[in-house]
Amino acid sequence: MTNDGAFRIVAARTTDTAQAVISAQELSGLAAQDMADLLTAAVLYRETMAPSLRVQCIVRFDDNAGQLVADSHPDGWTRGLFQKGSGEAPPDIRKTQATLQMMRTLPNSELQRGVVQLPEGGNLSEGFMRYMQLSEQIVSMISLGSVVEAQQPAAGGYVVQLLPEAVEAEAAMETMTERLGNFVEIRDRLQGSDSSPSQLVEQIFEGMPFTWLHSSDIRFGCHCSQVRVMTTLSVLNRTDIQELVDEGEPLSVGCDYCGTSYTVEIAQLQGLLSAS
Ligand SMILES: [Zn+2]
Repeated sequence: MTNDGAFRIVAARTTDTAQAVISAQELSGLAAQDMADLLTAAVLYRETMAPSLRVQCIVRFDDNAGQLVADSHPDGWTRGLFQKGSGEAPPDIRKTQATLQMMRTLPNSELQRGVVQLPEGGNLSEGFMRYMQLSEQIVSMISLGSVVEAQQPAAGGYVVQLLPEAVEAEAAMETMTERLGNFVEIRDRLQGSDSSPSQLVEQIFEGMPFTWLHSSDIRFGCHCSQVRVMTTLSVLNRTDIQELVDEGEPLSVGCDYCGTSYTVEIAQLQGLLSAS
């Protein structure tokens, strides 16, 4: 945070997390890049708005053409999912209309969500800024960037937030907007040798006294487990479970996020029947 109380910045590098998600979801090209940017958005949104809550960001394509989901947890694990729609691959957000939905899970499991239309041309950074402005009433400048299919992949971004306590907010904004002109496009910067989030913060706040508040790790991870698989199966109705038992084969269930596969034995399925 700048010592004059005008701005707060959150910067993240998500290279390894994004690469792991892209590979688990078998994404390539622009879709891989968009997934990387969405993951960065989820991490930044959580750290900026709700560090202790789980957040999800969803790009939902119009005409049931599928969706991209990024899921970020307070423990640092982050995962992503491409859910197929009418086509095999995700459409291009630059050409197909889509919405951006931001969601946080409150401690009582209630979901708090807001949705904005992605701007024409599908710029995710702009969509995220629009969301912050409209749904959270927070003036912020955001840049997300990623290079996915390269010798040296990179992904990351930042949120610079104008704080409500800022005095002479308009003048402060003008100075910051001018300064951020060089940081609108950060892909090249992320690939450079000085690409750590702290270096990015130092570059953006150069010459402005500021205080470090907090840092945290993120990583690719998934919270799927055998227990969760069983919980999911337990909500099926008895007839469906009986059908699975009658098929006489252990059930194989794969996690769509990370690809881990779980086996449910017939005895376990029968256990569900007797428990329900
Ligand atoms: Zn999983």
